[in-house]
Amino acid sequence: MFDYWNPQIERMPREDLAKLQEDRLKSMVHYVYDHSPFYKERFKEAGVEPSDIKVLGDLAKLPFTYKVDLRNTYPTGMFSLPRNRIVRYHVSSGTTGKPTVVGYTKDDIEMWSDSLARALTSIGLGRGDVIQVGYGYGLFTGGLGLHYGAEKIGATVLPTGTGNTERQIMLMQDLGSTAIACTPSYFLHIAEVAERMGVSIRDDTSLKVGVFGAEPWSDETRRRIEEATGIKAYDIFGTSEMSGPLFTECREQSGIHVWSDLFLIEVIDPKTGEQLPDGETGELVITTLSKWAIPLIRYRIGDLTKIDSEPCACGRTHPRLMRILGRTDDMIVIRGINVFPSQVESVLMTIPEVGDHYQIIVDRKGPLDIMKVMVEVTETGFSDKIADLMSLSKRISKELKGVLNVVADVELVEPGTIPRSEGKAVRVIDKRKV
Ligand SMILES: [Zn+2]
Repeated sequence: MFDYWNPQIERMPREDLAKLQEDRLKSMVHYVYDHSPFYKERFKEAGVEPSDIKVLGDLAKLPFTYKVDLRNTYPTGMFSLPRNRIVRYHVSSGTTGKPTVVGYTKDDIEMWSDSLARALTSIGLGRGDVIQVGYGYGLFTGGLGLHYGAEKIGATVLPTGTGNTERQIMLMQDLGSTAIACTPSYFLHIAEVAERMGVSIRDDTSLKVGVFGAEPWSDETRRRIEEATGIKAYDIFGTSEMSGPLFTECREQSGIHVWSDLFLIEVIDPKTGEQLPDGETGELVITTLSKWAIPLIRYRIGDLTKIDSEPCACGRTHPRLMRILGRTDDMIVIRGINVFPSQVESVLMTIPEVGDHYQIIVDRKGPLDIMKVMVEVTETGFSDKIADLMSLSKRISKELKGVLNVVADVELVEPGTIPRSEGKAVRVIDKRKV
């Protein structure tokens, strides 16, 4: 068993950790002021000087950074170092307009890999494991991020990337993958295809761990994956602006450990910008403490979550993020009510007749928003009796109304109807935007 990658840091007493953060924050503020014209300007606008930041509590004096800042300074206006220090670019596709470009120094890549080395070790992976990386390689940060982290801990990497599902399953069997990293929806698809091929993930492969992320998912989906395939499913978190995937849950599965020697986290009220106490849900804000090509000060990630700073049973002293509800961008507003796709998923996955795939379609009828949820029924739940199906769709609609307070039109479809995705699943089609 591999317990800690860096026990000294991971179990560091809280007071020492806070001191380390304070020292790093002070140097980071001076660094961005001296190296980034963008931040120098932003600090001046806010009337704050690096010397004003003396203790951790002074963080709230600093101005926020927004995703739109990265877009407005496309491609490299937010970089703090010249190109001859940059060893890699990644680019994240924007849904509207310009994408965002991120860059890394050698030390930035090292920090990223180290963060994942700690995370992968915390879920029991190490030398001797075969980690199948089923995230996209290339401009997306998922594939290469996991790849470097897995190599760092001495595991064997199987860089399958996304797609070619039957071959993924064959290689998983033949090369003995013990872990897979991909989106949860793609893993559900892999499990479905394996079943069709007559391969049981539980009995015919060595797979024991899944590292799932890049899209919001629920504890109910986790339960389904674990029960159906016999693996342990862990949540992973990170965004390209922060580097890429960085943090996972530990074996306790009770929140994602954020390495707080590397990143300072706050949760704020998205409307007022005020810091919220631990345990309250708000928007996640991060400040990088050890990142040099594009350091970020109080960057508003857009994910809604809460922080738990209670000590974890695993012995790590770093705070945990509770399951991410989704991004403020993913939120759908139906007749003035906020709905997250992950909430719909939570409801659906508790109903045994409902399959693993669903899609939400939002449209407008006259002045009114309407929400339709397309739901696949399981093979066993599917009935040719219209009355059975009607009562099932009524029941689903009632459960959704109970949780979301929104009336949804539920359409039941046969297994295999909803398009499968190899990367991020398309859970929402908002026809109002077209
Ligand atoms: Zn833990």
